[in-house]
Amino acid sequence: MEDSSSDSPPARAFNGMSVFPLTEMVIDGTSEVWPTFGRPISVSAVLKMDRHGSFVEFSRIPPPGAEVEKVELFTRCYLHLSQVMKAGPKLQMWTVNDSEDTDGPSKMLAFGLQFGLQKENDEFHSAIQEHRNNATKLETVDSGTMSISTENKFERKIESSSAKMYFHYYGQLLHQQNMMQDYVRTGTYYAAVIENHADFEGKIVVDVGAGSGILSLFAAQASAKHVYAVEASAMAEYARKLIAGNHPLSQRITVIHGKVEEVELPEKADILISEPMGTLLVNERMLESYIIARDRFLVPNGKMFPSRGRIHMAPFSDEYLYGEIANKALFWQQQSYYGVDLTPLRDTAFQGYFSQPVVDAFDPRLLIAQPIMHNIDFLTAKEEDLYEIDIPLEFKSSVAARVHGLACWFDVLFDGSTVQRWLTTAPGSPTTHWYQIRCVLSQPLYVLAGQPITGRLHLIAHSSQSYTIHLTMSASSIIPGSNRVGTLQTSTAKLDLKEPYYRMTQSPAFAWSQQEQQQQVEELPAPQGVVMMQQPFSADNEDVNQDLQSQQFVVSNGLQLPQHNPQQLQQYQQQNFWSS
Ligand code: SAH
Repeated sequence: MEDSSSDSPPARAFNGMSVFPLTEMVIDGTSEVWPTFGRPISVSAVLKMDRHGSFVEFSRIPPPGAEVEKVELFTRCYLHLSQVMKAGPKLQMWTVNDSEDTDGPSKMLAFGLQFGLQKENDEFHSAIQEHRNNATKLETVDSGTMSISTENKFERKIESSSAKMYFHYYGQLLHQQNMMQDYVRTGTYYAAVIENHADFEGKIVVDVGAGSGILSLFAAQASAKHVYAVEASAMAEYARKLIAGNHPLSQRITVIHGKVEEVELPEKADILISEPMGTLLVNERMLESYIIARDRFLVPNGKMFPSRGRIHMAPFSDEYLYGEIANKALFWQQQSYYGVDLTPLRDTAFQGYFSQPVVDAFDPRLLIAQPIMHNIDFLTAKEEDLYEIDIPLEFKSSVAARVHGLACWFDVLFDGSTVQRWLTTAPGSPTTHWYQIRCVLSQPLYVLAGQPITGRLHLIAHSSQSYTIHLTMSASSIIPGSNRVGTLQTSTAKLDLKEPYYRMTQSPAFAWSQQEQQQQVEELPAPQGVVMMQQPFSADNEDVNQDLQSQQFVVSNGLQLPQHNPQQLQQYQQQNFWSS
């Protein structure tokens, strides 16, 4: 691609400064002199962007009366390769490296910028800082140049305090590391890209929310022609550094610091790659950005990695978990806590605890019915489709049980031309940093084997980059002492996906051995990934209490608690800090 031309309308121009060389360090051993002038000369400066990043283009201002038709291009300084320092009220010092390739030959240039007024120095300096962060909204410079447009869907729907915390979080290396160290996640992306080499070879790729740049590097490894790595957080700078250190892949990757909703790219993409999934697939609302990126950057019939996501749901029975949550609220049951009656807040506390979705890895044997799924096609979905997701629930219980709520997980598909690969977060599959999520009902339902359970999972997006969950589950009531059903029992819950309860469990009494876990993984009929449910048993001669005893038996054997990796769970808590 050709870079910008200097005769298009400038985005933001600054005048009234002169530039003088200070020193020049020639690192590659050649004696080329740059720039070739000996005394201060007047320049103007324009802030622009191209595929290599944000830069300042300095142009000589011809002396008054000189017959020069066009302003001569003097030089271009990329901000990620420049250090800018205010050295006095009217003075700036610039050190500019001419290459990001730390190993290859490069030149370093130092020059001063002298301003006529202190105000001009201040304004130019802060414009540089803003431009570096892409916080400034630049108009399009010309067709060959990238810029930031004023159109911004993201800011219209997301509260700035939430976004600030979110991008601050992702700007930290340790959180990117946490995701990179989820080997199920990163390994699946790697395999999907490398196995489907043909989908990347010679192609233009956009990495939507590039973070550390890891997926861009994978795409470059798969011979992409060029990758645009778009990242909104300050991680973009680290990504530049990481990519620059991975020569020669770096020659085919451009990092762009900005939101996919606002940056402009110089060309369309043949394929998008992204990891936009949050808990329950949709948390963080980044899928919407992925869809916006599709509409803005992808060629018609272009590919998306991943191209499809599915939310899986099934009712579960977990007496132990239910007791744990209900017990927390019991604190507020006390009528004389140091002589104070706490009961006025009992209901509020009870409600509060049950409004937190539980995040942990659970034994799939706690599921009491075949799961159902809700499909989201990233290739065709509209961004607005994700504002409200309404899923009708219909299950058939395989056992007699007390139903404590709805368990959910997701998977995504890499629909490569060579190999189709699913990344699954199902219970019983190797655990990912997403774990699974469970919505617990404060009023459990009683069901018999074969009994239908119906309801609705209604997700409503909110401006803090998450969702309010409205869950309704119903089953015909059981007539005590018999296996006959009567009127409908319905239980509802309202939860905030942004306020999950990360369940840090102790090691179970009878933790599964690695071998047992491995066995389960092998038996896995992925992609759904549900390995087993509680064994159906005849409820003919059993009443619900006996069934509950059988549940209790499961609990007392500790089987409902799969082996956790406490470090991983802790990382997960850290990873979701922005949400607290
Ligand atoms: N692709 C990386 C990081 C995934 S995490 C990896 O797979 O390891 C998601 C990243 O997307 C975060 O770094 C976050 O800052 C970025 N992001 C989220 N919304 C974005 C948006 N609207 N525009 C650009 N980047 C965004």
